[in-house]
Amino acid sequence: MLTQAAANKSALLHPWRPGLWRMRLPQGRVMLAGVTDRIGGFDALRAQLPSIRRFVLAEQVHGAGLTSIETPQPPLERIPGCDALTTSLPGAALVIQTADCLPLYVWDPGQQIAALAHVGWRGLAAQLPVRLVSFLGTRYQSRPERLRAAWGPAIRACCYEVGQEFDARFPAWIRHDGTRRTMDLIGCAAAQLRAAGIRAGRITDAGVCTACDSPGERRGVILSERSESKGDTARWHSVRRGAQPEERLLSFIAIRA
Ligand SMILES: [Zn+2]
Repeated sequence: MLTQAAANKSALLHPWRPGLWRMRLPQGRVMLAGVTDRIGGFDALRAQLPSIRRFVLAEQVHGAGLTSIETPQPPLERIPGCDALTTSLPGAALVIQTADCLPLYVWDPGQQIAALAHVGWRGLAAQLPVRLVSFLGTRYQSRPERLRAAWGPAIRACCYEVGQEFDARFPAWIRHDGTRRTMDLIGCAAAQLRAAGIRAGRITDAGVCTACDSPGERRGVILSERSESKGDTARWHSVRRGAQPEERLLSFIAIRA
């Protein structure tokens, strides 16, 4: 199951501009998607996406609330009380902020439906991936077997150390290695997506760990002098590595306008 969870590991991420990576979503030609890194932010998003006039953020309360965005929104709006957003509206970017949690992209290539969720352990405990697939079926009549899913940079089993209480919460997804107890957040999310009906072959893994991925593994983007002078050359924001509350990766998906 663990290896299956990492199926279709492919080159999802491509350098786009300094601070911003493009996600090339399989069968997602009408979708624009990407993620900022430690030197990127909203400025990089806006500069790269002149056709996107609206950015819609989820408040992110570590719950399982979902909201569909189907009417024109203000240029920048935060939707309260939810951790997942969906849309069929071209030109509106759904945005999730993370620093270790999983930014989960789900899209329906046939119907041009886009969704993005913030999934941490609480979201998994609340079955947010399952609820999202169910919501897409109810709201848009999207069939699970036609959906695709992917995730961007997130903390992986190599680095996600958890406490003893996780043994009971996620018994199938805890690994014991000497004194370390780690959780496979991604394997758990993938299992929920498959249980909800998304085919394993349609789930794509970016293969990037926010906590240990170093820029040496990737080309095309130069870290800022400030970062280099501090001796911190990490690519991604990671709470486990000390990210401050304002330091978050911005993941987005939009249907082309
Ligand atoms: Zn790692």
